Amino acid sequence: MLISNQSPTKGFVWLVGAGPGAADLITLRGLRLLQAAEAVVCDELVNKDLLQHCSSACEKHFVGKRAGRHSASQPEINARLVQLAAAGKKVVRLKGGDPLIFGRAGEEMQVLRDAGIPFEIVPGVTAATAACSVAELPLTHRDHSSAVVFVTGHQCAANTDALDWGALARLRATLCFYMGVRRLPEIARNLLAHGMSADMPLALVSEATRPTQKIQVGTLNEADKFSAELSGQPALVVIGEVVRLSSFAADIPHLHAQAAR
Ligand code: SAH
Repeated sequence: MLISNQSPTKGFVWLVGAGPGAADLITLRGLRLLQAAEAVVCDELVNKDLLQHCSSACEKHFVGKRAGRHSASQPEINARLVQLAAAGKKVVRLKGGDPLIFGRAGEEMQVLRDAGIPFEIVPGVTAATAACSVAELPLTHRDHSSAVVFVTGHQCAANTDALDWGALARLRATLCFYMGVRRLPEIARNLLAHGMSADMPLALVSEATRPTQKIQVGTLNEADKFSAELSGQPALVVIGEVVRLSSFAADIPHLHAQAAR
């Protein structure tokens, strides 16, 4: 049990996972906190329908960040959280998916700790589980994949050594690339260069759980084709043998032919 020795304040911040898109994929706890919130600080990828649960008196702050378009910098967001909580408000920091996965929660927690503001993390459905659910593919399978890796596409440029590609290629894991669509050709090249088979199946799921969701499956050597079709939408890239088990792979002969049973 962690005992805080910091001075008590009336304000509190909940870092709440809003889930991947569909408005009913938030937890009950997250929903109840939204209903009770006095201020909500909301990210871009969050389904704005969720804000209908807030009271009319609740302050809404939109701090959306999207590739190439920043409406509030991370230090500005941090400062806003501290300022609202220090004013005694019950603050919900609403983040897409799960707050702890590529959500900058680490930085926000540190700022809140430094300011002596109490907080709690409320988990959410992350894009990887949402994408694999709608693609009907198991993230793990006892015969084909005993590990899952969440990777950021931001560090996948061809000439950086931020990632150990050899390890990723050898791991026999399911690789889930967040923010990876634009880098998909480089991701594929890196994995192929480190020994992954060109027949390795991949799935690309965009806007999972929204009415606009799109699911594509193919193989690593078809990667260029996929990334060209998508621009701007949030999408998740899944690479691994388990993709053969997707219902969406069943009609694709070169995936189906080798389908793992
Ligand atoms: N914290 C979030 C991830 C934030 S990073 C989570 O746990 O899901 C943003 C990236 O998540 C996007 O670029 C995309 O790769 C992925 N993503 C978020 N929502 C998605 C969705 N509905 N469908 C597919 N990918 C999604």
